[in-house]
Amino acid sequence: MRTAPRLLLNTPDIELWPAGLLHARGSHDARLLSRARTVLRRKRDGRYLAALLPEGLMPMVERLAREPGIDEALQRLEEPLPRSGPPPETQLPLDRLNERLHRLGLDERYAARSGLPLVAEPAHLHFAGRDRYRRALWLTRTAARAWERLRAAAAADGIALDAISGYRSHDYQLGIFERKLARGLQVADILTVNAAPGYSEHHGGNALDIGTPGEPPAEESFERTPAFAWLQANAGDFGFRMSYPRDNPHGIVYEPWHWCHAAGT
Ligand SMILES: [Zn+2]
Repeated sequence: MRTAPRLLLNTPDIELWPAGLLHARGSHDARLLSRARTVLRRKRDGRYLAALLPEGLMPMVERLAREPGIDEALQRLEEPLPRSGPPPETQLPLDRLNERLHRLGLDERYAARSGLPLVAEPAHLHFAGRDRYRRALWLTRTAARAWERLRAAAAADGIALDAISGYRSHDYQLGIFERKLARGLQVADILTVNAAPGYSEHHGGNALDIGTPGEPPAEESFERTPAFAWLQANAGDFGFRMSYPRDNPHGIVYEPWHWCHAAGT
């Protein structure tokens, strides 16, 4: 018997996670998570908001009812999934994007300047195994399957590949900017290594950063590894392409580790 696919149900502010895929942050969390089926998680900072237990919803923050986006998340929690087959591949609306850009002092001209398209978030994502840090890796169904096949083919050729990062939300991307700004970096500098919120291929669930054990994550030195040579020769057969080659027109640094499945282009 096949087990049901493990899904992340996505809403604009809150993600609904299978509880078994989250790490407990302390013994209280551990007790709750061990009994929970689903956990509501705030996208901006990853905070656990509530756990769905057999007896009902257990808030994990004060004033859960005032949490932005909670109504939509609770509604999603109650929507039944299709009884057979995966749910349709729909996307969330691209609302509040300008608000995010304005918070960084950017506006719509960023899109024209960078030539990067807006990337909507999928309404749900599929579990694609664990990343290098033992976190759940989320991708679209197509990209998850392609990554599984790519990794197995590499392993058969003696090449170990691991995932550094897959799906990331708009809110999470904004958090990256806020943390770097707090460390004193300028928006213009951050934009050479991170796309503005809404414009990262990671939002669509088809892109992933690939590494190989023993190599630091997301470093140009990855291009000198046998793993990179293998990807260059073979990733295309699995529908993956390198998005940011040297001197790409988007003003993004050379990223030999960042590959996107064709479903996202
Ligand atoms: Zn990337």
